[in-house]
Amino acid sequence: MSTLTPALTVFLLVFAALLGLVIGSFLNVVVYRVPAGIPLTRESRCPSCDAPVRPWQNVPLVSWLLLRGRCASCGAAISARYPLIELATGLAFLAVVWASLGSATAPWPATILQTVAFLYLTAISIALALIDADTRRLPNVIVLPAYAVLAALFTASCVFGAPWESLLRAAIGGIALFAFYAVLRLTRPGGMGGGDVKLAGVLGIALGWLGWGTLVVGAFAAFVLGGLMAVVLLFTRRAGRKTAIPFGPWMLAGAWVGIFAGETVARWYVGMLVIG
Ligand SMILES: [Zn+2]
Repeated sequence: MSTLTPALTVFLLVFAALLGLVIGSFLNVVVYRVPAGIPLTRESRCPSCDAPVRPWQNVPLVSWLLLRGRCASCGAAISARYPLIELATGLAFLAVVWASLGSATAPWPATILQTVAFLYLTAISIALALIDADTRRLPNVIVLPAYAVLAALFTASCVFGAPWESLLRAAIGGIALFAFYAVLRLTRPGGMGGGDVKLAGVLGIALGWLGWGTLVVGAFAAFVLGGLMAVVLLFTRRAGRKTAIPFGPWMLAGAWVGIFAGETVARWYVGMLVIG
């Protein structure tokens, strides 16, 4: 898959970053409106003065900088969180396409479909992490369609030449991680929510598709990151022993550690066992 010219590679990476900025802008709307039950199609208005947001005021990153973080009509402050999420989504899309181009072994149509699947996972990961942190919920309307979207894209990727064993691994990964979280939820009531269990199935599918090492590291990393955060919060007394900390953001962060570093970490760990 080294048939890409440098010019085409640069074009794809720039396109990915710009697409990420636009999607990030949309995710800001999703994160605010989905938990509040406001339709996504309604036009954006300033929460302070109700002035409609004009198209030129809606350009990702640029508008916030030009407006210096204030509403053009009433001067009310617009949170820096909005441009930061746009920027983070742009960088995440760039990283996913970069990794995808670097590791592509299947024919191009298969690689493109797989990349689209992981860009979709990127978008819902950012939306779900923020919504869970804000509201302690993982809305079904975002989590459940992900099963169908990932299944369709991965199946199509196999039709175009990706190995079918990847699809089998994805199915096993989804069932295994769903079951694991379901057992956790039953044995430790109050720890995990039903949303966590449903999200675990989605993440298991994506991790399993990439490999067994990715699946194990991605699942394990969630508990390492979540545990570290709980310890930090306890020591800084920002949380008591009983404070409910949403686990969704850690499941998502852990999964992305697995996606980017899972196979490397797994090889290193197995190597250590063999040498030791
Ligand atoms: Zn305003």
